[in-house]
Amino acid sequence: MKKVIATALILTLLFFLIPLILPGPDRVDEGKGTGEPGESEGSYQGDWKELAGDQTLRVLLNGEVREMPINEYIWGVTAAEMPASFELEALKAQAVAARTYALRRAAVPNQNHPDADVCGDYTCCQAYISPEQAAANWGDNAEVYTAKITRAVADTGLEVIRYQGALIDAVFHSSSAGSTQDAVAVWGSSVPYLVSVNSPEGEEVPNFHSQVSLSAEEFRSAFLAAHAQANLGDDPKWWIGETVRNESGSVEQINIGGVLLRGSDVRSLYKLRSANFTVEAKGDQIVFQVAGYGHGVGMSQYGANTMATQGKGYRDILSWYYTGVTIETYTGR
Ligand SMILES: [Zn+2]
Repeated sequence: MKKVIATALILTLLFFLIPLILPGPDRVDEGKGTGEPGESEGSYQGDWKELAGDQTLRVLLNGEVREMPINEYIWGVTAAEMPASFELEALKAQAVAARTYALRRAAVPNQNHPDADVCGDYTCCQAYISPEQAAANWGDNAEVYTAKITRAVADTGLEVIRYQGALIDAVFHSSSAGSTQDAVAVWGSSVPYLVSVNSPEGEEVPNFHSQVSLSAEEFRSAFLAAHAQANLGDDPKWWIGETVRNESGSVEQINIGGVLLRGSDVRSLYKLRSANFTVEAKGDQIVFQVAGYGHGVGMSQYGANTMATQGKGYRDILSWYYTGVTIETYTGR
């Protein structure tokens, strides 16, 4: 009998230790439930179908409103928003951020879908993928990744992030270049918990550096379509004026053809991966060199993963990226 208990103890210990001693994740680019096959991730247990709870959300998916237990929905968001190959603690941080974001959204009727609290469109709410679709994308890793996401969601219970008692706007992005952005630099209004902090990810992020080249004519016509008053003469080398950067190297303000723009405006106009860019005229080309990916505000997903590989837990990660917050179990708005 003692032997049986000892064996059970060792197995239990192994269950918790294996994830800790495994090497870091494969770096998956912009994974939307597409973790790469062939990895060994240790064993995770749990069935997403057991993530039921009293708390439900009305979720608009494929034109239909479904009433879902909140953590079943959060499973689909976590799987869609972060590669399942990432560290467990990073996935937990993502789950808590996604839960917070959803519950805050649910508190205010959404004009895009008044009958649903949230939807599965990432441009409106957060991305969502069903367990079946995620498993199909994961291939050979389906079983391990399904259980891993389940554990990330289940282990964080109904935890949410609050600032001075209120649910925070838990925005996140893929990767930063050196540090995250203050909300005021990107959206024009400051938020006390969305201030710039150092972020540890770097060259290990796929496509950390990217380049966008346009012909001068393409650049000019796209610019004039948005800013007809701009003065873009014949020689492209005079188009780009003074650029003001913040400490992390992101463009705060840039003068193009006499028009003052925020870096984030230029980012969306030319579909750059971030507002951390340099731009110059090279002959008949306008060339952007870009670092990082995303708006840069709030939690960096790759940064979270790097912190997790350094031994940080999900609470450390969330408290790092969202300044001055508390993490507590949700008991109502
Ligand atoms: Zn929505």
